Amino acid sequence: MGNDAAKAIREIRINPVVPGESVLIATARSLRPKKEEPPAPHDARSHVETCPFCRGNEDRTPPPIAQVPESGEWRLRIVENLYPVLGDDQQNPNLAFGLQQTIDGYGRHEVVIDHGSHGIRIHEMGGEHLGLLFSTYRDRMGELYRANPSVRAVLVFKNFGLAAGASISHTHSQIVAMPVVPYNIESEVQNSAAHYEKTGQCIYCSLINEALTFEATFYDRESGVVRRKISVGQYIIERGRRFIAIKPFASRFEWEVQILPFDHEADFSNLSADDAADLGRVFRRTMARLNSVLGGAQYNFFIHSLPHGPGANAHRPSYHWHIEICPRTSVPTGFELGSGLFMNTISPEDAAARLRSVELG
Ligand SMILES: [Zn+2]
Ligand SMILES: [Zn+2]
Ligand SMILES: [Zn+2]
Repeated sequence: MGNDAAKAIREIRINPVVPGESVLIATARSLRPKKEEPPAPHDARSHVETCPFCRGNEDRTPPPIAQVPESGEWRLRIVENLYPVLGDDQQNPNLAFGLQQTIDGYGRHEVVIDHGSHGIRIHEMGGEHLGLLFSTYRDRMGELYRANPSVRAVLVFKNFGLAAGASISHTHSQIVAMPVVPYNIESEVQNSAAHYEKTGQCIYCSLINEALTFEATFYDRESGVVRRKISVGQYIIERGRRFIAIKPFASRFEWEVQILPFDHEADFSNLSADDAADLGRVFRRTMARLNSVLGGAQYNFFIHSLPHGPGANAHRPSYHWHIEICPRTSVPTGFELGSGLFMNTISPEDAAARLRSVELG
């Protein structure tokens, strides 16, 4: 690595979809202002007597909303979250006074028990199991939208590790149905619609295309020295038949990776069985690469899909659903929280190269 100083990058990269989510890439070794977040302690036990999510303790959770398969030994189980962030027990009128306003915190909050084995990690689950997990997310998302027309967005996410927000060590993920479209998704929807208006192209399709085909060399005007070389496929981490995993050029987090369907599709609810199988495989391989490089880092992943509600359908040609995987390897600084500008101390090019170089069995 000796030529670190020569290669050091200090630049602000603009997120092409959401310019407000831009990032300062600062890789000089002397610059280590970020405190590291330790890996999640790994509880490798497959069964824990006292765990409410383990097999045999089904009576310690509320009755299941769904179970896969429906009879016999379950592989996945969905239950009501006992501590919901949003609740459906009462619906209050919305309020407005002066500049302040409120929308009733109506919604649903479900827990997906990912697997019967207590401490299994995502990359240790089979691709087929992960395919089943994604089809289960799809079914729940569709069901939650159908069940209540006032649901505007359904967010599927996973917290792994304490810093990432996980409070129970049994592997699980969560689904929240909300009466508002969260700002992060709304910004993507609006900005990609503006791009479509200007160019007639889906910006995500164009980004996939760039990742697959773009190459360029930038020279210093005075000295003629090569300043930057971008080679074909440099940002690609994994490729399946239907999905691609990409390291974003403007990655907010050191090890952030996004997974997108190759073919344009706005709505995760339209995932086919064939899609789910390929996604399970691409996702498992991506998580195995991250685990191999990071050694059990804490992370969040979430699915961004087209919201529902008035006008949402108009964005089908311009929005493109995707999964964002965000490992938590460093603690956000006051600079980041105060400015909203993320800071990343590993260049996305190096991170992509390291992830790609992992030998998977
Ligand atoms: Zn358990
Ligand atoms: Zn697209
Ligand atoms: Zn997104």
